[in-house]
Amino acid sequence: MPKKFLIYTDLDGTLLDHDTYTFHPAEAALKLLENRKIPLIICTSKTRAEIEFFRKLLGNQEPFISENGGGIFIPEGYFEHEFEFDRVIKEYKVIESGTPAHSLSQALEDISLETGIEVRGFSQMSVSELSELTGLDEYTAQLSKLRDYSEPFLIYGDDKDTETIVEKINLIGYRHTRGGRFHHILGENDKGKAVRTLTDIYVNELGEATTIGLGDSLNDQPMLREVDIPVLVQKPGGEYQTNISLRNIHYAEGAGPYGWNAEILKIIMNS
Ligand SMILES: [Mg+2]
Repeated sequence: MPKKFLIYTDLDGTLLDHDTYTFHPAEAALKLLENRKIPLIICTSKTRAEIEFFRKLLGNQEPFISENGGGIFIPEGYFEHEFEFDRVIKEYKVIESGTPAHSLSQALEDISLETGIEVRGFSQMSVSELSELTGLDEYTAQLSKLRDYSEPFLIYGDDKDTETIVEKINLIGYRHTRGGRFHHILGENDKGKAVRTLTDIYVNELGEATTIGLGDSLNDQPMLREVDIPVLVQKPGGEYQTNISLRNIHYAEGAGPYGWNAEILKIIMNS
């Protein structure tokens, strides 16, 4: 019997090109997944509104995970079996594990005042400022400000200042992670816990599943640790994220969606 795969993927710098946000180089692999009816589950630091934008472009109707595991969104009627969820938002049943974003941005402001280290969170930034920083157009940048469970931010300081900020975040019981461009302050959630929860629901429905996870940065590590086949794609320029050490990691040949395409084709064709 063929394996039942589930694919969890990061977006920025992984399925989407770091600079242009295109997934075009991964089209052959995306087509293969579609033909084989393999669920492609987006698992990103992006917001629900941003993910909905890219799901539409991808023609994707699978569940997804927003804001580094803060919310798991499952379309109504997707699973036959029942599962526990916290609330209904639009057409989704939502499992929430994130801390409300306003508490996180407030905590960050307090830390900045206390330490005298300048930080700037998404909630303080204008749409045009964000658009400039990320390379997103203003419409998409606007979607990235609609945050429920996390606050991305920049630190204006040196490594020592970053260390101080991270320590303070941990001290008040929140957590810090890092994506391709930004630091993030979070509650208890991470990508790995959300992947575990959603995989359990799939296994309850399908009987079994082999999970593949693809990422490019440190905030992907909890997700990569949770899946059967972890894949790290290259950063622009061909480097891999350092400090991600997993026994069974696959190093994809190619940056972002190029590596994504090559590795997914290899794994699925050889299965
Ligand atoms: Mg990324």
